[in-house]
Amino acid sequence: MGKYTGKDRIEPDCLYCNSCGKKIVVEQGVAKEGTISISCVWDYFSEKDGERHHFTLCEECYDRIISQFVIPVEVEEGSLYI
Ligand SMILES: [Zn+2]
Repeated sequence: MGKYTGKDRIEPDCLYCNSCGKKIVVEQGVAKEGTISISCVWDYFSEKDGERHHFTLCEECYDRIISQFVIPVEVEEGSLYI
């Protein structure tokens, strides 16, 4: 009998902002503060063809980054629980 190591848990109990390194607590799969997770697979016409990139930002870093956009982010009312 192998000892249960907990390695097969699906939900992490914390996330880290890739930009500032801030720890974000996750309880029962829900981050306890605002975060955004970006995941994309670069396609053939990029120089990263076939690479999947994934990162998480805290709300503070997100706000800082989008404040540098020339064209503002589109914002509309929405909910995760439609
Ligand atoms: Zn951050």
